[in-house]
Amino acid sequence: MKKLAAPLLCGVMLTGMLGLGGCAPVRERTRYTMALALSPETRTLTGEMTVDVFNGWDNAREELSFQLWANAYREGALHAPVSELYAPAAYYAGESYGGIAVEEVQGARSFAVTGEDENILRVVLEEPLYPDERVSLSVCFTVTLAEVNHRLGIGENAVMLAGFYPVLCADGVTERLPAAVGEPLAAEHADYDVTLTLPQSYTAAFTGTGERTEQGGTAAYHVRAQGVRDFAMVCSETFRVYEGSSCGVPVLYYSLCDEAPRETLAAAEESLAFHAQTFGEYAYPAYTVVQADLPVSSMHFPMLSMLAGDLRAEELPPAAVHATAHQWWYAMAGCDRYAQPWQDEGLAAYSCALFYDAHPAYRKTYADCVGQAERAYRAFFSVWSQLGEAESTVMSRPLGGYAGEYEFLSVTRDKGLILFDRLQTLSGQKKTLAALKEYVARYRLTDAPPEVLVACFAQKSAYAEGIFSSFLEGTCVI
Ligand SMILES: [Zn+2]
Repeated sequence: MKKLAAPLLCGVMLTGMLGLGGCAPVRERTRYTMALALSPETRTLTGEMTVDVFNGWDNAREELSFQLWANAYREGALHAPVSELYAPAAYYAGESYGGIAVEEVQGARSFAVTGEDENILRVVLEEPLYPDERVSLSVCFTVTLAEVNHRLGIGENAVMLAGFYPVLCADGVTERLPAAVGEPLAAEHADYDVTLTLPQSYTAAFTGTGERTEQGGTAAYHVRAQGVRDFAMVCSETFRVYEGSSCGVPVLYYSLCDEAPRETLAAAEESLAFHAQTFGEYAYPAYTVVQADLPVSSMHFPMLSMLAGDLRAEELPPAAVHATAHQWWYAMAGCDRYAQPWQDEGLAAYSCALFYDAHPAYRKTYADCVGQAERAYRAFFSVWSQLGEAESTVMSRPLGGYAGEYEFLSVTRDKGLILFDRLQTLSGQKKTLAALKEYVARYRLTDAPPEVLVACFAQKSAYAEGIFSSFLEGTCVI
């Protein structure tokens, strides 16, 4: 009995403390505590946030930078958050603006809203923050929500709340400009304790686990999430909620308009189970899929996937399969989807191709997915090579290096799938999956940049590094 007691205790304690299924080392993380009040009528979200910053970096910090993604929606912003292609549909009521006002920062010497596009809150600390030390800052802010179908805004059927609060920049200092293609939000893993009040007629789907109480026409949610890179919510008066589970993890689906909601939920459950079995256990205690007002088919947040409310019934299950893959490629193994978006998109395209091969009911094989990606990428390349765009084949570039959605998806998703298919052809599927399993296990709930992914493959195959570099630098012929 004694021999069994220790590992069992370890598993139980970590499950309770972190929501993890295994005995991963406990990492110190930054903690956000927020009290939020949403008023859809006045298009405002007020917040009182205490951020307990942990210096997990190599050097001391005298200043800290926080990203103000919400300011991309303000009038006069230099970098639009919505691409030109999608803007007419996204701004359903015509021009509309939002933004964030930071009213107060306590616990700091001074603060200023700065950056090239008012996209940064810079805080001067009272004293240097050394590695392994913590500093606590309190921030009061008010977000004005634009009328827009996007990750942050009042949509036609729901209120989307992602990227609404000042979030610590990577390394405390790496400032980023808003980007209209892809998904720019990519903070370091942190812990969250959030209270949201809103009119009682609204239901909220969120990152994390929590409970709802009601009093005097107001509903309050108290939500906790650990080891997540972001905190997001979607609120609506018209959700229908469906409950399921996968590998013992509760899976919730908040639907706005879905003729076959059970099929969408089943796709999320199957994708979660497949990825857990193939690449390593899901790290969180719950998973939520929610329909939202979006101009793109899906957006991905830790423990929470948003699917566009206007997708057709047959489009929703594949969108759920893909979105769920990002729980491994971005949320858990911390790909930097701003600096190297090929990484999470390519991995998601590859793992979904494997998923379809293992699930004949979707009537799409792995070979179909790769063939489709090759045809799409070659069609893209034939157009772009005539335009003489030297950058068009380089995968290693940030979101800002893409001119639009077509180029972005062709290079990150299509070429990304082709890259991982070529690696699989070279090393065999067994070694490829072993490399990815090791990648997820070693970089679970922490940063997982391209070099560590390449290193996991390089251990299995002498040629892997060459394949990666020829794809990333754009020198290989497809
Ligand atoms: Zn994706």
